[in-house]
Amino acid sequence: MVGNRQRLFPTNFPIFSCISRVSRAKIKTMIEQAKLILKKVFGYDAFRSLQEPIIRNVLEKKDTLVIMPTGGGKSLCYQIPALIFNGLTIVVSPLISLMKDQVEQMTDLKVPAVLLNSSLSYEEYVHNVGKIRRNEVKLLYVAPETLLKPKILEMLATVPIDCLTIDEAHCISEWGHDFRPEYRQMAEVRKQFPSAVCMALTATATPRVQRDITKTLHFEESNEFVASFNRENLFLKIDPKQNAFPQLVRFLERYPNQSGIIYCFTRRQVDELSQKLEIKGYSVKPYHAGLDEEQRKRNQELFIRDDIQLIVATIAFGMGINKSNIRFVVHYDLPKNIESYYQEIGRAGRDGLRADCLLLFGYGDIRKIRYFIDQKEGQEQQVANMHLAALLRFAETHVCRRIPLLAYFGENYTQENCGMCDNCLRQGQGLADLTIPAQKFLSCVRKTGEIFGAAHIIDVLLGSKSQKIAKFNHQELSTYGIGKELSKSQWFHLSRQFIQKGLLSQDPEFGGLKLDKNGYEVLRGREKFMGLLREEEEQEERTEMKTAKVKATAVQLGEEDRELFEQLRGKRKELATLYHLPPYLIFSDKTLSAMAVSSPRLPEDLLDIHGVGEAKLERYGKTFFDIIHHFRRKQ
Ligand code: ADP
Ligand code: ZN
Repeated sequence: MVGNRQRLFPTNFPIFSCISRVSRAKIKTMIEQAKLILKKVFGYDAFRSLQEPIIRNVLEKKDTLVIMPTGGGKSLCYQIPALIFNGLTIVVSPLISLMKDQVEQMTDLKVPAVLLNSSLSYEEYVHNVGKIRRNEVKLLYVAPETLLKPKILEMLATVPIDCLTIDEAHCISEWGHDFRPEYRQMAEVRKQFPSAVCMALTATATPRVQRDITKTLHFEESNEFVASFNRENLFLKIDPKQNAFPQLVRFLERYPNQSGIIYCFTRRQVDELSQKLEIKGYSVKPYHAGLDEEQRKRNQELFIRDDIQLIVATIAFGMGINKSNIRFVVHYDLPKNIESYYQEIGRAGRDGLRADCLLLFGYGDIRKIRYFIDQKEGQEQQVANMHLAALLRFAETHVCRRIPLLAYFGENYTQENCGMCDNCLRQGQGLADLTIPAQKFLSCVRKTGEIFGAAHIIDVLLGSKSQKIAKFNHQELSTYGIGKELSKSQWFHLSRQFIQKGLLSQDPEFGGLKLDKNGYEVLRGREKFMGLLREEEEQEERTEMKTAKVKATAVQLGEEDRELFEQLRGKRKELATLYHLPPYLIFSDKTLSAMAVSSPRLPEDLLDIHGVGEAKLERYGKTFFDIIHHFRRKQ
C-alpha cells in the first residue's frame, strides 16, 4: 500500500506547519498536482465549476464553506487536497453508511483511508488507530461523537493534521433539518488542530444555515463557494394523476433493469404499492420507518448492490445513499414541499447522466395535505400553507419548471429553454386554436351543475359507462360522448390549462369546477381559446427521449452497443459480489456506457475513458478490456 501511495502521491511537497499564506508558485504547482490526481486517481478530465477554486482555497489554507447540491461533486473538494497535504485530513460525517461507502470508494482507488465510529469491532478499531499513528493514511472518516472522545483527541494530537473537514455541515445549525448537538462542539475541536485548515460542506442552501455554520466554526477569513442548484441532467415532468398505477407501470416500461425510487406519502401506501409491483413481476422492496431496522438495512443494501431494481419508500429513504446510477425518481404522491421534492429528485443521476423525475399530480393529494395542515396550529400552519402554495405554483406552471424550482433557492434561472423539462419540450409545439374542445368541456361543466371535478367531466365527454354517470343520469346529457376525438390524458392536460387561463376555477377543497368570466366568454363564442394540445402519450415519450438535451446510458445506445453494455454490466455485478462492493463503486453507468461505444486496442487505452484512473485500470482494466475486445472481434 505504501509503495503505491508513493507512486501516486509523491511526498516531496512542503509540510504546512502554520496557516501562513503559501507562495503563488507553490500553489501553482499544487494546482497542477491536483489536476494530475483528478485524472490519474479519479479518471476525470476536468474539474466541475467551482471545484478548482475551492481546492485552491483549501490548499492556501483558508477556511472554506462549500454549498453544492447533492451530486455536485463535493467529496473531491476535500479528497484531492487530502492527497496533496502531507498530514492527515479528518472528515467528520454524521452517517455511518456514508462513511463506509466513502472508505470503500477510496480504498478501491488505492487512496489510504480509514474510518472510526461505533460500528467497528475492537480489532478493527485498534488496527485503524495504528494506521493513523503510523501516518499511513491520508483520510480519516470519523463520527462526531467519536472525534469528541478524549482518547481519540489525544491520539490525534500526536499526528500532523492539515485539514478538518465537516461534511453535512448543516447539522451544526438548529435551523437546518438535521441538527446534531455534537456538531456544535466542532468549534472547540478545531482549536486543537491549529495547523489544520477547516472546510465545511453542505447541500443545504438557506442563508440562515450558512451564516450559522460560519459563525459557529469561527471562520475568520471565510470564503464561501455557492454552486448553482440547477441539476441539468434531471428531466422534470409532472403528469396529472389519473389512474396512478397503470401510469406508473407505463413509465417503468421505459427502464428495464434500471434503478429507481418511487416515493409515496404513507407507510401503508408504500406496502401496498410495493406488493402490487411485485405481483406484476418487478424486483422491488419497500422502505419506511415502520419496518424494523434489520429489514430496512437489508432492503437498502439490496438496492445499492443492484440486486433489486426498485425501492418504494416514504421520505425516510435516501439520506446517506450515494448510489450514483439511480435513473429515475417517481413521486407517486405529492411531496411534502419543494425542498423535499428537490432533495428527493436529487438522488437520481449523480453520475451526471440523464435521469427522469416524474411527479403524479392529483387534486386528491392536495386535499390530503390540506387535512394534515389543518391539524397544525399558528405559525406552523402558516408555514405549511406557504410551502403548499409554492409547490402548487411549481406544479401548475406553464414556464420552464426550473424557474420556480430554482427561485425557491434564491436563484434566478434565465435560460430560455432548458431542454430538460416537460414544459420546455412542449414550448416548441406552439399554441393552437382549441375553442371547440374548450366549449365542449365548459358546456359539460355547466350542464352537470358546476360541482364535479375534471375526472367526471372527462368521463361524460368520453361517453364512459361509470357508475357515477349512471347515478346522476349523465348519459342523458347532450354533452355525453361528444369528446371522443381526444384521449383522456389530452383532456386532463387541457382541463389544467382551462384553470390556469381563468376559464374555470376549482373548489380548493373538493376539486369541483365552476365557470369563470373568461369561461363564459369562450362558451358564448366571444373569445377564442388558444392552448397546447398534448401529443398522444407514446408520441410524447418518444419526443422526450429523443430531443432532451442530456442523454441517458443504455436507453440511447444502439442495439449492439447496448448488448455490450449489458455484458459489461453483468461483469460489474459479478466483481461487485466478489469484492463485496456496490457495483457503482467499481465503475459508474457513465463509464460503462462510454466503454460500450469504445474500441480500445490496448487495456491502457481505457485510461481515456471517464472514470478510469490508474488504480481502476490496474484492478479491472484487463477484465473489461477483454470483454470489449472479444465483442468487437465478433462484429
Ligand atoms: P456530493 O457529495 O456533492 O453529493 P459526490 O462528491 O458524491 O457529490 O459526486 C457525485 C458524482 O460526481 C460522483 O460519482 C463523482 O465521482 C462525480 N464527480 C465529481 N467531480 C467530478 C468531475 N470533476 N468530473 C466528473 N465526475 C465528477
Ligand atoms: Zn425547462
